[in-house]
Amino acid sequence: MEERIKAEHEKDPNTHTWEVQASVPVDTKTARRAELRGSFRAEGGMVVKSLEVICSSCRRPFDMVADEKCSATIDNTHLIGGDSGVRAKRIVHAPVGKVIQQPLPSRRGLSGYSPQAGR
Ligand SMILES: [Zn+2]
Repeated sequence: MEERIKAEHEKDPNTHTWEVQASVPVDTKTARRAELRGSFRAEGGMVVKSLEVICSSCRRPFDMVADEKCSATIDNTHLIGGDSGVRAKRIVHAPVGKVIQQPLPSRRGLSGYSPQAGR
């Protein structure tokens, strides 16, 4: 599989690097091994249920960007919300409240022991 991926990238450097996020049912022994090592050996001929297919470079799903070039190989504008000259300006909201400075609660004396005291 690595050779086929490498051949695709040599043919078109702007192609996506697809990876399948999968769900594999395992027994307890294999689950422990997978948790410990971060990987496990699957049985030959095992059918793996695919949850989602994404590009590991641009982190986008297959169905959204399959017919486009990989944005990660071009530049990083997809990570910062697109071209800053084209995208909408940031909305600056008016503050909804005001911070009021309060005196510090006393931790000594009777009010320091009673939760209702000092309120
Ligand atoms: Zn991509």
